[in-house]
Amino acid sequence: MKKLLVKYSSEITLKGLNRKYFEDILIKNIKQRIGKEAKLIKESGRIIIENYSEDVIDKVRKVFGVLGVAEATVVEKDVEKIALAAVEHMKNIEFKTFKVECKRQDKSFPLNSLELSRKIGGAILKNIKGISVDVHNPDVTLMVEVRNEVYIYSNFLEGQGGMPYKSAGKGVLLLSGGIDSPVAGYMLAKRGLEIIGVYYHSHPYTSERAKEKVISLAKKLAEYTGSFKLYVVPFTKIQMEIIEKCREDELTIIMRRFMMSIAEEIAKKEGALCLATGESLGQVASQTLESMFVTNSVVSMPVFRPLVGMDKVEIMDIARKVGTYDISILPYEDCCTIFVPKHPKTRPKLENIQKSEEALDVKGLIEDALSNVEIINV
Ligand code: ATP
Ligand code: MG
Repeated sequence: MKKLLVKYSSEITLKGLNRKYFEDILIKNIKQRIGKEAKLIKESGRIIIENYSEDVIDKVRKVFGVLGVAEATVVEKDVEKIALAAVEHMKNIEFKTFKVECKRQDKSFPLNSLELSRKIGGAILKNIKGISVDVHNPDVTLMVEVRNEVYIYSNFLEGQGGMPYKSAGKGVLLLSGGIDSPVAGYMLAKRGLEIIGVYYHSHPYTSERAKEKVISLAKKLAEYTGSFKLYVVPFTKIQMEIIEKCREDELTIIMRRFMMSIAEEIAKKEGALCLATGESLGQVASQTLESMFVTNSVVSMPVFRPLVGMDKVEIMDIARKVGTYDISILPYEDCCTIFVPKHPKTRPKLENIQKSEEALDVKGLIEDALSNVEIINV
């Protein structure tokens, strides 16, 4: 019989008195993903899934907190039966060299890990021709875990690691259609932060397809998080007002400040305690330290920028792994590419920007945008 053995981050098991809090959230998240058919059993330091369908394996690998999964052959705690099952397991695999690694979680089992490894290794050598043991660099490592039952496996499939989603509070992510912000969202969600997305849409300057693209990104993130709530905020009126009443080179920075303020209002409404962006230091004019200082000054919540110290190449690598890259590079315009000043300020001064904003009805514009949001649950 096959069962799915799920290993989870040691960060969770090392949480002391809070361990159960994290484990319970992890189990809830896995249950939500695997459907009603499959049965989940909690073992010490492991989660076992029975009666699962093929697609469950990939789904569980995407749950944050899961280190990885293995399809295990399950046998009774009987040395002869274990050896027999191990031989059968290995007969189905192509290999020249192997080693056996046993974990005896049940200390009442008569053989210790080393003795059991020897016993199993001997049985494999005796029953399969043309193979040998290599403890340093084997083709196959056969894992045997002695728990309530005995789990035998050799193919460990890595998961995402991290902490269970929703175990670390809630934040609002400014989600554009670009490469960076979905990666920022992935990274924070992986640390357990529940993410609410906010997308600023400049209809009709940005097309319906640009919005669809952001929804696709939200869906991709939801493969990891289980669900994703996205606010679509109409942004055209604000941009038009800025273009009309402010200096051209301050356009981007003032626009960013509006984005932050609106996101903060949504965060308050949602009970979120932080904002997050995909900014990386020095990447573009609006991401210099001075610019970040000025955009940050308009809000009081912490603003998380998980990509701040990363190069574009590193960010793109993660985007490819996560699966957002191919969506992000679709060529639809976003609100910032349309309204870009020719020479944006790279070293804005807070006082000057605040002065420029006096020409605008900031409060009214924000309220107006907020009263016209569209909420999409994916
Ligand atoms: P991204 O790849 O995430 O679009 P970027 O490198 O293009 O980032 P900017 O366009 O300067 O950088 O945007 C910086 C950050 O501001 C983005 O990472 C995102 O968090 C936020 N942002 C920009 N445009 C939007 C938008 N239309 N809706 C929501 N957030 C946005
Ligand atoms: Mg962008």
